[in-house]
Formats: sequence, structure tokens, C-alpha cells
Amino acid sequence: MTSTVAVIVAAGRGVRAGSQDGLPKQYAPLAGMPVLAHSLRALSTHPGIDAVQVVIHSEDRSLYDTAVRPFATALRPPVHGGVTRQESVRRGLEALAAQSPSRVLIHDAARPFLTHDLIDRLLCALDELPGAIAAEPVADTLKRAGADNTISETVDRADLWRAQTPQAFRFDSILAAHRRADTEGAHDFTDDAGLAEWAGLPVKLVASSGQNMKLTTAQDMALAERLLAPAAAPLEPRTGGGFDVHAFAPGDHVWLCGVKIPHSHRLEGHSDADVAMHAITDAILGAIGDGDIGAHFPPSDPQWRGAASHIFLKDAAERVRAAGGRIANVDVTILCESPKIGPHRDAMRAAIAGILQIDVARVGVKATTTESLGFVGRREGIAALANATVLVPT
Ligand code: MG
Repeated sequence: MTSTVAVIVAAGRGVRAGSQDGLPKQYAPLAGMPVLAHSLRALSTHPGIDAVQVVIHSEDRSLYDTAVRPFATALRPPVHGGVTRQESVRRGLEALAAQSPSRVLIHDAARPFLTHDLIDRLLCALDELPGAIAAEPVADTLKRAGADNTISETVDRADLWRAQTPQAFRFDSILAAHRRADTEGAHDFTDDAGLAEWAGLPVKLVASSGQNMKLTTAQDMALAERLLAPAAAPLEPRTGGGFDVHAFAPGDHVWLCGVKIPHSHRLEGHSDADVAMHAITDAILGAIGDGDIGAHFPPSDPQWRGAASHIFLKDAAERVRAAGGRIANVDVTILCESPKIGPHRDAMRAAIAGILQIDVARVGVKATTTESLGFVGRREGIAALANATVLVPT
């Protein structure tokens, strides 16, 4: 019976360049799971692969256990790697020898973009030859240079390929080659195809997908993260307006944009009558076409009597987030003869920004009198006019 196994080499000590956490790169997080888990998923879910053997560093057992938890059923217990990659692969092969598998795929954990299609084509190629490896033709022009980086020669790239993993082999052939290399002290192979070549095994090059990249630097990690990120829905801007008026009544302070300001009167209303915050709330609700403040918090409902208006504003912001959107900015103009708004502007902006969970630079607070004209000019109350721009998925 044909059986096919996979060895993932994850014993390296290469720490992700620029990482603060000191994690070996095969355990660094990539698109929500460790780098190792990406190859493990591809290999363990392939219908043609019967067992997966991971070779780990002796100090990484707990990192490994966490990384493989979702895949535990397809896995053999990990084995510890050696000083070199070659030694690590040999130990992985020896751990599988008792099973007498017919084929093995050897793969580096640092290549997370392994696909089932590539695995299929490699296994297929083993019908013809004892070895087949993923590789890419060299696309760049190649130069040889001296110690001072001066070009001495242009190298013909016509027959040149870059070797990658997986590297697939008939199991007995590659195990025998590894054992022989170990016995004969040939320890300098950087991949298994090199060792197979030394042992006289013909190996076929199988063109990989072009996205089978190896993660080496912090830039590689960032690129891989972008490639794996789900395509975000495009956002479009929508604008809403809000207007509110509250009348003065006997009292000693007013609430405006969440700030308590001593004053000769209070504002009358069913809540704390924060007229500016009400206008902003309506502007946000208007931008997402979701009614108005009175529809969500009816003045007739006694539970909102004396309520702090930040409850209304916070609710509007949550409605934006629930719609997959975000608030780009809000801007309010307060119309009154008094109190003076300027001294409180920064506190007001900070309060609104805090409630909306946006940067304070996205909050504008302005004030004007009405030149003694109209109800505002007669000091009968305060009006507020607001705009909001939100970005929502199209
Ligand atoms: Mg109101």
C-alpha cells in the first residue's frame, strides 16, 4: 500500500528580524496563527498525506504544543532536531522509518504558503523519478562580484532555478542517502535535493506557484501578513446633520458637550439637556440613516429622565461600529450669547472624543452668538448644529 508522510523542519533558531518578543520565526504569529501552523494545515488536510512529523528544537515544546493544538489528530509526536538542518531532517526520517512509508515530503516551517496543488504536482512527479522539489526559475539577471562589489561577470540564468520546499522523495531512497551522508561525514547540504544529487538520485524541478515565499526578514513577515489579510470591504463616506434647541430655566449650570459649566440658568429637557451632544448624536444617526435620538430614547420614557446624554452618543457610535463603519469626524457649532464656550473647548473636544473612541483631532467644537437676534439673541435658550462624517462599507 502506498503511504505518504510529511516532515516539517521547525528546529531552527532564527529569530524574526526586528522582533521584540524573541520568538523563533516559525512560532511568530501570522494572520492569527503561528507560522508553523500554516504549513501544518496544508499538509495535515491533504487527502494523500497519512502522517505528519514535525522536527522541533528541544526548547520549543510548549510553543509547539500551542501551535499544533488544532491539528493534533494528524500528528506524530515531535522529535528534536540536530545542530544542522540536514541532521534535523535525518532525525525526522528515522522517526518515520518503522512505518515504511513509500513517499515523503520534506518541508521548511518558514514557508507558510504551501498549497494542495503544489503537493499534488510533487507527488505526481515521484511516479517518474525518485525526487521532485518545488522551485522557481530565476527571473533576475545574475551578477558575480568581487569583494568590493564590482561586477566581474554576468552569469547566464537560462538554466538556473531557486530551490524551495516541499522536496518530495521516495522514502527509502532519501533515508538511505541521509544515512550514507551521515556515515561518510558529508554534513554540508543545505537542502535534501543537494544530498540526493550527491547520492546520485535524479530529482525533478516542479515550478511552484510564485507565492511559496520563505519568511526570513521582518519585511517578509509584513508582506506575508498583507497577502493573507482578508480583503476589506471598501468604505464610502456618508455625512449627516443634527440640530437641537433647549430652553433656559432657573438653575445654576448647563451641560454642553459633556462639560458642566456654571451659569445663571440651566437648560430644560428630559435628559441632562446637553443640546450640543444631542445635535452630534443626531448627526451620526443621520449619516447611517438610523432614525434620530428621539426614536431610540423616547422623551416619553421615564427611564431617560435626567439621563446623562453620553448614553445617547455612545449608542450612536456603537450603531456605526455595528454597521462595520467608523466615524471620520464630527463638528458642532453652539449658538448662544452666554456662557462663553472658548475656555471649555478643549475639555469638550476631549469628552466627545472619549465617548466616540476617536482621536480628538476628529472633533470640532465651535461657538457663535446670533448678534442678539432671535430666541438665542434674547437669551431664551441655546441651539446647536452638528455635522458628522462616517465611513461605512459599500
Ligand atoms: Mg435635545
